[in-house]
Amino acid sequence: MIWNFILQNMSADKTRNTNSRRNVSAGLSRRSVTAALLAFCAALTLMAAGCAGARGGRTAPDGGSGDPAENSAGTAGGRADPADNADDGKISVVTTIFPPYDFVREIAGDEADIKMLLKPGEETHSYEPTPQDIIAIQNSDVFIYTGGENDVWVEDILSSMPDSDLVTLRLVDCVETVEEEQVEGMKGSAGHDHDEEDYDDVHGGHTDEADEADGEDEEESPHEADEHVWTSPVNASLIAEQIKNVLSKADPDNRGMYEENTLAYQEQLAELDGQFREVVDHAKRNIMIFGDRFPFRYFADEYGLEYYAAFPGCAGDTEPSAATMAFLIEKVKEEKVPAVLKMELSSADIANAIAEATGTEVKVFYSCHNLSADDFENGETYLSMMQKNVETLKEVLN
Ligand SMILES: [Zn+2]
Repeated sequence: MIWNFILQNMSADKTRNTNSRRNVSAGLSRRSVTAALLAFCAALTLMAAGCAGARGGRTAPDGGSGDPAENSAGTAGGRADPADNADDGKISVVTTIFPPYDFVREIAGDEADIKMLLKPGEETHSYEPTPQDIIAIQNSDVFIYTGGENDVWVEDILSSMPDSDLVTLRLVDCVETVEEEQVEGMKGSAGHDHDEEDYDDVHGGHTDEADEADGEDEEESPHEADEHVWTSPVNASLIAEQIKNVLSKADPDNRGMYEENTLAYQEQLAELDGQFREVVDHAKRNIMIFGDRFPFRYFADEYGLEYYAAFPGCAGDTEPSAATMAFLIEKVKEEKVPAVLKMELSSADIANAIAEATGTEVKVFYSCHNLSADDFENGETYLSMMQKNVETLKEVLN
């Protein structure tokens, strides 16, 4: 009976989530999915009676092949198979997205088993945790997540494991956050979809329950902190500092190594920061135009850049209004910018349409949320992608 309940819940929530993906309630639906998954994982844990005490990630299940928890964890696809941890003695670190994954890689080197929940190539904003992801979090020593609107599901998981000695870090706690900003020309932010012209479209697949949830969410947190804190190299350095602290807390024996690596990495970040400043100081203009979402508020603020974009940071919406298109096309002509920007792993439709209408070209500006499977294989890093941004910025500002 409990299985039926869980499965029904999961499929109902899945449907609702698909229907409301372009709406702010996507995060909440994800939360309901997580609740169902947690129930699912709890059931797995009950079935795997022998594993009940294996929470810290250091106690490996005894390799029984009939253990569903172990099988699930083993197929998680990441590098950190919790069952391996006891063997190699390394700490196990799980991150939701690429930047903290890469920072941990720089700071811990081979001394940590690092797993990124988002698969390379996967679009961040449509990520949903799998049962394996939840088990990976439960079995890790350190878990790093952004703490923004895409991560509401995390709190449910963490509150389901109150006795755990899991060390957690939220990226939004590492820096001073700002709210997502609505600049001229942007289509209404996700939180204000209801005022927009695609109201009926969005509402078509919208249940009353989801509407209620929307209201609750808005009351709890009317203003969302922009979670894309890593897009400024200065912030990346502050985040690296906190990552060093949590790694040292979970693994004090290696504190010296973490400190050394962090200092070396922070030097590289400072160099990158200097390169961006140099470009901006010698540029003809200070405007970036994105035919896309705009998760670069921290970056723009850091270097005093102005910007126009189709949508704010993490907007679930991907269909611009006619007014937004007209505005952006006009801006490109007015400012004579040589290229329209778009993010990696994001549709080029809007940027292409603007470029076509203005005789300009489209260039990719890396948000580093995630990278393609090829780039991941080729060893691209936050620094290497940001280095490409230095070159792109030089082109669009001159
Ligand atoms: Zn985002």
